[in-house]
Amino acid sequence: MTVIFDGKAFAKKHGKALKTTIANLKRQGIQPAFCVINIGQDPASKVYVHVKARRATALGLKQQIIQLSADITTAAVVAKIRELNADEAVHGIMVQLPLPAGLDTNQILESINPEKDIDCLTATNIGRLWQGNHFIEPATAAGVMALLQDYQVPLAGKNCVILGRSKIVGKPLAALMLEANATVTVVHSHSRNLAAQARAADVLVCAVGKPNFVTPEMVKPGAVVVDVGINHWHGQLVGDVDYEAVYPKAGMITPVPGGIGPVTVEFLMAGVVKLTRRRYGC
Ligand code: NDP
Repeated sequence: MTVIFDGKAFAKKHGKALKTTIANLKRQGIQPAFCVINIGQDPASKVYVHVKARRATALGLKQQIIQLSADITTAAVVAKIRELNADEAVHGIMVQLPLPAGLDTNQILESINPEKDIDCLTATNIGRLWQGNHFIEPATAAGVMALLQDYQVPLAGKNCVILGRSKIVGKPLAALMLEANATVTVVHSHSRNLAAQARAADVLVCAVGKPNFVTPEMVKPGAVVVDVGINHWHGQLVGDVDYEAVYPKAGMITPVPGGIGPVTVEFLMAGVVKLTRRRYGC
C-alpha cells in the first residue's frame, strides 16, 4: 500500500510549535519581521506573495510587501535592499523570483545582507550550506528533508535522484542529501538517459516545473517520490509527477496540492524566526 505524505498535517504540527516560539519572542519584546520584494505583475508570484503574507499574519509575524514596478533598474532595487539591510526592525528579506527580464538577479540577491537572507540565496549562505555550517536553509529543501525525516525515510547509503538543479530547490537539496550520506544524482535539461537515472532512485525528487513529467516508467517499484513541482494545468494545480499513474508503483509519494507546498511556506516562516533569534542571540 503506497503511503501518501501528508504535508498539510506536517506543516500544521510544525506551525503550532512555531506559533508558540513567536509568542514567546513577542513576550520578550521581540517582533520577528520580514519584507518581501515583488517586482512586476507576474500572477504566480503574486499568489506566492499572498500565501506567505496570509501565513505570516496567522502566525503573528510582521511582514511588509514591497511592490516595485517591472521597469525599475537593478541599481534602484539594490538601493531599496540596502535600506532594508540597515533597518533594525527588519530581520529577513525575500526577493520574489523570477525577476522581470532586464534585472540582474545575481547582483540583486547578492546585495541582501546574509544575516537577513531568508531564502539562502547569497553566496555567503550558499557556501555555508555546502560546508555543512548552515546559517539558514532554503525552505523547500529544508522542508523536503524534514518531511522525509518525519516519515522515517532513511537516506544514508540510498540513491537520491533530484530532477532539476535550480538555486532554490535542486542544488541546496543536493547539499542536504549529501550531508545525510545519500548518493546524490542531479539531473537537468542536458542530462542523458534521464528515465534510466530516475529509475535508479530510491528517493526521487522532482523539481522541473512540467506537468506529468514523471511517468511510471521512470520510477523504481517501491521508490519514495517527492513532487516539488507546482503547475497550473487545465485549471488545476498539479505537480511534476503523473500522480494517478505513478501512485500504484511508488512506495511513498507526496501529493500536489497538500505535499511540499504547505511545508515550504511553514519553513519559510521558520526561517524568519531563526534569523530573528540569531539577531538577538536567543
Ligand atoms: P527552475 O525553472 O528554476 O528549474 C527547473 C529545473 O528543471 C532546471 O534545472 C532545468 O534544467 C530542469 N529541467 C527543465 N526541463 C527539463 C527536462 N526536460 N529534462 C530535465 N530537466 C529539466 O524551477 P524551480 O526549481 O524554481 O521550480 C521547479 C518546480 O518546483 C516549479 O514547478 C515550481 O513552481 C516548483 N516549486 C515549488 C515549491 C514548493 O513550495 N512546492 C518551491 C519552489 C518551486 P536546466 O538547469 O538545465 O535548465
